[in-house]
Amino acid sequence: MSGYPHTFRGFAIADPRDWASPKLTEFEPKKFGARDVDIEVECCGICASELFSLKNEWTHAPLECLSSAYGPKSQVVGHEVIGRVVAVGDRVTLCRVGDRVGLGAQCCACMECARCVAGNEQYCARAVGTYCDRYPDGYVSQGGYASHVRAHEQFCFPIPEAIPSELAAPLQCGGLTVYSPIKRNIAGLENPKVAVIGIGGLGHMAIMIARALGAEVTAISRTNSKKADAAKMGAHGFVATAEPGWQTELQDHFDLILNCASSTTALDLDALLPTLKVNCNFISVGLPHVDEDFRGVKPFTFFSNGCCLGSSKLGSREEAIELFALAAEHGFRPWVETLPVSEAGVHEGLTRLDKGDVRYRFTLVGFREFFGT
Ligand code: NDP
Ligand code: ZN
Repeated sequence: MSGYPHTFRGFAIADPRDWASPKLTEFEPKKFGARDVDIEVECCGICASELFSLKNEWTHAPLECLSSAYGPKSQVVGHEVIGRVVAVGDRVTLCRVGDRVGLGAQCCACMECARCVAGNEQYCARAVGTYCDRYPDGYVSQGGYASHVRAHEQFCFPIPEAIPSELAAPLQCGGLTVYSPIKRNIAGLENPKVAVIGIGGLGHMAIMIARALGAEVTAISRTNSKKADAAKMGAHGFVATAEPGWQTELQDHFDLILNCASSTTALDLDALLPTLKVNCNFISVGLPHVDEDFRGVKPFTFFSNGCCLGSSKLGSREEAIELFALAAEHGFRPWVETLPVSEAGVHEGLTRLDKGDVRYRFTLVGFREFFGT
């Protein structure tokens, strides 16, 4: 018998060479757990991580789903989901059937280890990503370009009424990913100064979030083409790294540099890091191709101000709820272009994001009409 809850439908690839053209397919969801929630998808953002995953550029191994013990042999991506809860497991207490919820890039964690207990479930050693990631039983997770997604209740976030679904979607991964390190690095500082590198999906949300958290924000982009937009998003300053000498007036200036660029090879860390104050952090949320690195990093790169180079992964449930409250209170919203979900709509979103042709996030919409749910 086909149809929910026995099978879900979504847009999948089985070969990274087909990354731009996922095809409509029917697939078996993971086994339903006592703390699992089924979400009937309403809309889903498109994050650059999906390009890396579909092209299989974060690993030299074959697509994870091809060697899975059971479950689909093709891959559905999508991890900025908004939808309605249609089923809950026996032990679910965090949401109810009928609730509007969001799901980001993580769908499971053990919820028992020290990291989970401390509210760092995104760093759980047994964390499972919403797509392309292996559950302990071997099932490879399937994402939200689909009729439904199944996830642990911890990762199904309540969404304030004030935020429309297509604008709430990009906050689930992109927004949360930048909120967590900004908050953790500037909490308690007076007049913090934050630089955001790479004004794309994550970067444009980082400008608005840092501003709402009280920071003075400088957008750092490769050229001046996004200067006017960055000012409208709330950036106080703007730097085009194509202009030589940009760093001269910014020495000893920032409390945090947040790198949101999807490529790190061209980052000039010898120019960027001296703009940090003493012992402050350069945090990269950008995750490039597996063969890319931070070029030219030497001990002397950090020597003049004792700065640190680090990273950050997603965010916790608590931080997600804080972020949505901040967005509801301050009124900032991701800049979204909607695309109707279909094979053609998914193709257009992926290919245009790949070319950088988006201002500044796509949300696929119309799932209920398309899937007849
Ligand atoms: P976008 O494509 O929307 O934006 C990336 C931005 O990076 C571009 O707008 C551009 O900014 C800059 N950029 C693009 N190409 C280059 C290049 N060749 N060299 C230098 N800069 C470049 O991507 P997203 O915002 O969706 O994602 C950004 C990164 O964050 C990705 O690597 C993604 O995988 C990662 N990510 C990480 C997460 C985490 O938990 N750490 C979670 C989610 C995403 P400009 O034009 O201003 O220079
Ligand atoms: Zn993402």
